[in-house]
Amino acid sequence: MRVWVVTESAGGRLAGAGLELLTAAHRLGATVEAVHWGTDVAAVAEALGRHGATKVLDVGDVGGALPGVPVAAAIAARIDAGDRPDAIFLATTYDQRDVAGRLSVRLDRPVLTNVTGVAVDGEGRLVADHAVFGGTTVVRARITAPAPQLLLFRPRSFPAEPGEGGPAPIEAVAVPDTGATGAATVTGRHVAEHSGPALDEASVVVAGGRGLGDASRFELVERLAARLGGAAAATRAIVDAGWVPYAYQVGQTGKTVKPTLYVACGISGATQHLVGMKGSRHIVAINKDRDAPIFGVADLGVVGDVTKVLPRLIEALEARGG
Ligand code: FAD
Repeated sequence: MRVWVVTESAGGRLAGAGLELLTAAHRLGATVEAVHWGTDVAAVAEALGRHGATKVLDVGDVGGALPGVPVAAAIAARIDAGDRPDAIFLATTYDQRDVAGRLSVRLDRPVLTNVTGVAVDGEGRLVADHAVFGGTTVVRARITAPAPQLLLFRPRSFPAEPGEGGPAPIEAVAVPDTGATGAATVTGRHVAEHSGPALDEASVVVAGGRGLGDASRFELVERLAARLGGAAAATRAIVDAGWVPYAYQVGQTGKTVKPTLYVACGISGATQHLVGMKGSRHIVAINKDRDAPIFGVADLGVVGDVTKVLPRLIEALEARGG
């Protein structure tokens, strides 16, 4: 079996779940090749190789274009020319969702979305676990569509584990002129400012919800996160209310996190929030309603007013110093 894993990078740093998907594909016993776009392929070829890529098919710099059009066109052209993998693994990022949708049309293949697990059955066919109904049910599907099969994975579904391999050789891939490459261009980028670890990499996450009562109290969440060396996060309810930017959102339509410790403060535990954090190793919930669904996934529940519990907790931690 041969699998292409789509990877992306910015500033010499791999983004999305590329290394996780390379690891997963490698574990299937497949021959794994990365399809990469970005200006810095040389800087990431070693990491790609160490995670199982035997080759990097380099789409290169897509300039100011949104990547969906050129990357999908380059992959489709390569397949049309006869180089056809059995499956293409993509991560659920904005750009790779765009690539997947366009490839689906170009190749006339379905896309299996929300994939969280993958294996090969006794007949050598791919089987995949994917979440449906807001993550409440996991379906195991055997994929019978002809190659290449398109799978869109949820980030954090697998660990990224480096192996022995050295830098993967790089082969440039031509981007055909679709006439639409420049139809949408990126006119500006900015990196959201934050202090402390990035939310999707933090080993401690402290998240706030509507139970905080007021935007100004999100400061309590940030102080506790800083004190624990973690990242602050939020539910969609308070993102929609404008209390914090979207970058803080955890859940079905936000980020997926898997920290060692997740502290949920004034969060009800709606399924759309739970799918983004229930893989956390230890979950602590503070909620004044003892029947709140968040307690169903919590290892430790504090029934109480978050506006009183959080200042006491921060005070106690500060008293300990360090
Ligand atoms: P609420 O549900 O209003 O809960 C507030 C909680 O605070 C309650 O349990 C209450 O008992 C408690 N509380 C109140 N006062 C206090 C106090 N003083 N002390 C302690 N506890 C208190 N949500 C997400 O989070 N992420 C997503 O990605 C996401 N995607 C969605 C996608 C779709 C298609 C849809 C339909 C919804 C999505 N949602 C998402 C929204 C989700 O359904 C919930 O509405 C949201 O998670 C609720 O946020 P909350 O827990 O902050 O607010």
